[in-house]
Amino acid sequence: MTSPAPCTDSLDLIGNTPLVLLKGPSEAAGCEIWGKCEFANPGASVKDRAALWIIRDAQARGELLPGGTVVEGTAGNTGIGIALVANALGYKTVIVMPDNQSKEKMDTLRALGAELVLVPPTKFSDPNHFVHTSRRIAEETDGAIWANQFDNVANRRAHIESTAPEIWEQLEGRIDGFTCAVGTGGTLAGVGMGLKAFDENVQIALTDPFGAALYNYYANGELKAEGSSVAEGIGQGRITANLEGAPIDTQFRISDEEGLEWVARLLRDEGLCLGLSSGINVAGAVALGKQLGPRSRVATILCDTGFRYLSSLYNAEWLRSRDLPVFDWLR
Ligand code: PMP
Repeated sequence: MTSPAPCTDSLDLIGNTPLVLLKGPSEAAGCEIWGKCEFANPGASVKDRAALWIIRDAQARGELLPGGTVVEGTAGNTGIGIALVANALGYKTVIVMPDNQSKEKMDTLRALGAELVLVPPTKFSDPNHFVHTSRRIAEETDGAIWANQFDNVANRRAHIESTAPEIWEQLEGRIDGFTCAVGTGGTLAGVGMGLKAFDENVQIALTDPFGAALYNYYANGELKAEGSSVAEGIGQGRITANLEGAPIDTQFRISDEEGLEWVARLLRDEGLCLGLSSGINVAGAVALGKQLGPRSRVATILCDTGFRYLSSLYNAEWLRSRDLPVFDWLR
């Protein structure tokens, strides 16, 4: 057991997250399922990496000057990452978020000092969609940049340059498959590209929630959504710039019920308190592991902490109101 090297800069705390063998999922799949603990980042989610890479990229290109502002539209986690990185580097943050996201994320953003702009949840084609609103605010604000996580490929570069090499090194180059869900696609495309650069035989799978269009796109070329999901931060309806050229070998579609079952089991049996996208990812990893067979090794992303969803996923009334199963211990 070695302790992490001491850091002389708080931003160096982003990344280098632990990888953990998930016992229940491994048993269910009949092979090894590993979870990358992205909830261990300072902002408690995988999005700290994208935030750091996007801001460093804007600095390097001379677009973000001292005292400037970073504006972004986000389901919340990217905003939290941006607010922390911006604070550490002396920038201001404006975050535009749909008002149906978790209260915890909104409270966290305000607590971190971000200016929070809430908009109604709308379709991407609506000019008031959170993404378009954030672009407009960036254009109208002096000294501001638009982080543009969906189409700014500095996002996936974070995963090509950090997440993928970390997983490869942690598993000592013995990995057969990787899967995760898509919000921007930065994680799936970046880790996929990064792992394929080490070994092109590593199988990369999309794990899509219902209500997203990518499962059909990779299965039969049609961008078509079916059903719906309450999972926050995932569920994409278009091919973002980050997804372009993503090396996807296969795809799975996972229901909220199946994802929640893994959220419950990982908490009850392994002491991991996670959000729903992590549960959906684990369900996808189990499906991929079954496909790859015994003795295979599959990795996935444990995207964020469950503490962000105490008023939703971990609240009996909320679950019941959405016709979702209630965890035994909450009844
Ligand atoms: N899970 C959660 C909880 C998220 O907030 C996000 C980011 N939107 C993702 C998964 C997906 O990550 P990515 O944007 O890299 O596709």
